[in-house]
Amino acid sequence: MRDMNVTRVGAARVAILNAGDLRLLFSEEMAVPESEWRPHYADLFERPVSCPSLSVYIEHEDVRLLVDANDYRATVAPDSPYAIAGYTPPPDIPAQLASLGVKPEDISHVVITHAHWDHYAGVTRPAGDGFAPTFPRARYFLGAADWADAELQTALRDQTSLEARTLGALQARGILRLVGEREQISDSVEILPAPGETPGHQIARIHSEGETLYVIGDLFHHAVEVEHPDWMVTWASAGAMRETRRWLTRDALAERAKLIAAHIATPGRIERAGDGLRWKDA
Ligand SMILES: [Zn+2]
Repeated sequence: MRDMNVTRVGAARVAILNAGDLRLLFSEEMAVPESEWRPHYADLFERPVSCPSLSVYIEHEDVRLLVDANDYRATVAPDSPYAIAGYTPPPDIPAQLASLGVKPEDISHVVITHAHWDHYAGVTRPAGDGFAPTFPRARYFLGAADWADAELQTALRDQTSLEARTLGALQARGILRLVGEREQISDSVEILPAPGETPGHQIARIHSEGETLYVIGDLFHHAVEVEHPDWMVTWASAGAMRETRRWLTRDALAERAKLIAAHIATPGRIERAGDGLRWKDA
């Protein structure tokens, strides 16, 4: 199927699913002065780029984990600043899972890397006069600091908001677990707090038969941020982001780990490049 990419990490089966491409304009979204990007990155910054909105499905022993679940059709209207003119998104995430032989009720865990709509809009679906979990047997994991965020709490009070229909509906059913520290899902799969993009941003680490994969959410939006660890989106918390990038790149380099970022189309690895680092497509 188009946009689907199945690979292995040790004994784990890993599939990359794209909910749909988003239009991003880095000159507006990145907190990088024009004098810094203009000399070498004008093409990347001054024209809109098309970035996927990825979910990652991981199957290992009893675990059927989905990291992030966007719902493109529910969130990107044709007049949205994120919409690409003339673009038709792929089938939704449940349909892409079905083509892998995975049913919604098979999913055991859903890790929401952070409380931005492009990472959770698909965790529920319309059912009767309300909203029901898209993956009815799963437990859902969200960073506690994202849940506590004042803007999110305000949005939850409006029953018609996206936040209330998704995260609020999960919480009301008692199936949303708020994660404050490192949490083991199984012997091979864990959730690691990785603040910066948001206070509660978290990533998943899979380790099997000597191979390691990190599903890193929005720790990097583009490979250029690996070379420039101080380059980040305007809404990031700079100190937290630098510190998370520091330990993640250190560990990923030592483990020769594979990385999958939510908005980078291809999995990659961290490589040394001179005094710094770079992203190498894997
Ligand atoms: Zn995102």
